[in-house]
Amino acid sequence: MAKIISGKEVSAKVREQVKTECDELKSKGINPGLAVIIVGDDPASRVYVNNKKKACADVGFVSEEYALPAETTQEQLLALVEELNNKPDINGILCQLPLPGHLDETAVINAISPLKDVDAFHPSNVGKIMIGDYDFLPCTPAGVMEMIHNEGIEVNGKNCVVIGRSNIVGKPMAMLLLHENGTVTICHSRTKNLKEICARADILVAAVGKPKFVTADMVKEGAVVLDVGINRDENGKLCGDVDFESVEPKASYITPVPGGVGPMTIAMLMKNTLKAAKIQNGII
Ligand code: NDP
Repeated sequence: MAKIISGKEVSAKVREQVKTECDELKSKGINPGLAVIIVGDDPASRVYVNNKKKACADVGFVSEEYALPAETTQEQLLALVEELNNKPDINGILCQLPLPGHLDETAVINAISPLKDVDAFHPSNVGKIMIGDYDFLPCTPAGVMEMIHNEGIEVNGKNCVVIGRSNIVGKPMAMLLLHENGTVTICHSRTKNLKEICARADILVAAVGKPKFVTADMVKEGAVVLDVGINRDENGKLCGDVDFESVEPKASYITPVPGGVGPMTIAMLMKNTLKAAKIQNGII
């Protein structure tokens, strides 16, 4: 039987800490502020943006929403980013992805000031993560690490396998495990012998985007299994990349979906925004 790591509980702890530190900043006259840009009317993006605004309100941040119509031009979007880069009461800028197809996401990410890039997607922040000397970590991998730390799970010297190599999850996840002296293997759609590689993992992170992709035969007895995936199963029910029912009895720790990595992502966004406010006000 695995210990189920509750993202709800760990994220509540992180948010509580952020709230306490936000109160301290406010007592010094600093009000951390996050600007969230949403373009178009994608329903999933709307839910994510609403959740982020609510999280801001809960910890005491100011949040500003910039909801732009789907037909917004690249120039208009870049002009807004520039305006927010120069707005002193905004410490963090987040542009909800994906953007409508005619917009260039990379150009938008590159236009956000690295100091306000609380998603940590800007190439300058990505480079800093590679070196291991960073201000911000991307929220989802940072959330996974927070869960690992909260449980006191040792990464040092462990075989770590990350399935997925996206810029927002897989690659930075691997880097963070490497920084903690894990021996890291990154798997992707061209990986041969995926099952054998995964079955050697002491720590297995699944960021594939395929429902119940990781089955019990891919998991070593006693492994720590962290499930980043958010998918719908054949009945339309929310599920992760891990087949929870079959894997849970073999694992030592496992994260559920929902209620696992998902809530951590927003909590880490709050942490990054707080840090941005501190940096911009010369506190750290
Ligand atoms: P991407 O689609 O960008 O990346 C998926 C990765 O999985 C790719 O590297 C791909 O390989 C790899 N992959 C696909 N099929 C296979 C296969 N058969 N075998 C091995 N590897 C495979 O997804 P993201 O990284 O953005 O997201 C991954 C999942 O995490 C999704 O379910 C997403 O919804 C979820 N997510 C959850 C978040 C949270 O807050 N909990 C935040 C962000 C994402 P290749 O590169 O070769 O194509």
